[in-house]
Amino acid sequence: MRPAPGWLALFVCLLAALCASPAPLQEAALSEPCPYCEDDPRLLEAAGLVRHGAMPFGARDAAAVAAGAPRGSWWFLESAHFRVAFGLGACAVEAARMDEVERELTELRKLFPRVPKRARRLDAPLRLHLLVWRLEQRYARIQQAFGVRDADFPESRPLSGPFMGDGRFMGEKDKFEFAIFPTVAAHQAWSREFSGATVTDTLRWHFSPQHKLHASVPAADADLRTDLGLQTHLTHNLAHMMLCAYKHFSYDPPVWLDEGLALVFEKELHPEAITLEGQEGGIKSERPPPKFAARARVLAERDEGPRFARLLGLREVADFEGDDYVVCWALVTFLLQAHPEKAAAFIGGIKGQLDERGVPSGRDLPGLQRKLMQQLWGWNPAQLDAAWRAWYRTR
Ligand SMILES: [Zn+2]
Repeated sequence: MRPAPGWLALFVCLLAALCASPAPLQEAALSEPCPYCEDDPRLLEAAGLVRHGAMPFGARDAAAVAAGAPRGSWWFLESAHFRVAFGLGACAVEAARMDEVERELTELRKLFPRVPKRARRLDAPLRLHLLVWRLEQRYARIQQAFGVRDADFPESRPLSGPFMGDGRFMGEKDKFEFAIFPTVAAHQAWSREFSGATVTDTLRWHFSPQHKLHASVPAADADLRTDLGLQTHLTHNLAHMMLCAYKHFSYDPPVWLDEGLALVFEKELHPEAITLEGQEGGIKSERPPPKFAARARVLAERDEGPRFARLLGLREVADFEGDDYVVCWALVTFLLQAHPEKAAAFIGGIKGQLDERGVPSGRDLPGLQRKLMQQLWGWNPAQLDAAWRAWYRTR
């Protein structure tokens, strides 16, 4: 993009002054220049980013997210697939992660020369740039596991061809959004407005007129305020959001698959990371063990743990008990690693089921799962149970 000539800028300034209203003032308050990209459109574009500052959010906009907060306490960044509102301050880099973060900063520095080589502390705009850069990488990783690319998702549903939803963002019309709040109260004030519910933990929401997935995140607890803790939590939520969005969110996917995928992608970042949200970690389930892989091997050796015939019919995480978390994670790990193409076909078959009239339908998902498993692998649920346990016994 070429810079606008001076006379045009002057004309725009005059026009803006003539049309002065509260909206441009709010916008100015959102648009502190970023010390890393300096809001330079060429640098942003080269990095796959769109803008800082004012942008749509939920059913409203960035100004509404930051309402009531002191000036400069919020940062916003839009990328190819995301809009992120970031209300947290600086954080220290965990000593054990200094080298890893240094590698990331080195990569980011290639895009934005003002990014430091090494940092013990990350300030808010640098955290946000890192966070969005990582989210885009996780987006690509999850698309790869699902066996899809952006080009597979047309702008609108075509008259013929495979059903891929109704938009470019995994089947949704608009980008994925994260609003990250410093307090539970601010998260509740924001999320209550559209959900009607007052929740303490992260809330994921499908905005249906806009057709987009949104997460309101209260990063108030110590474990979510660290660089790694926030990253693993966002990845967990992103996996849920991308599975929901895939071929458009028309019905809830099977919970074992939904939770298993979220745990797999979260634990790829750190094997002991675990997100247990409000309705998750239900009454019946104890807190899962920190080392899932070790527990999965024990269950495989002893031929213990839940059976797939039961897991495939569970409707919500509140129904999880015993080793359900570990086995959902183990099943998805096994399918993605030992059978990546078939696993992608299975996920694609679960999402976007159509009825006789061509309308997305979530009817008889247990039956659909059994049918797909038979078609793809020739397995019934007991044969899947045997297959994953055999695979873990060799690891
Ligand atoms: Zn910036």
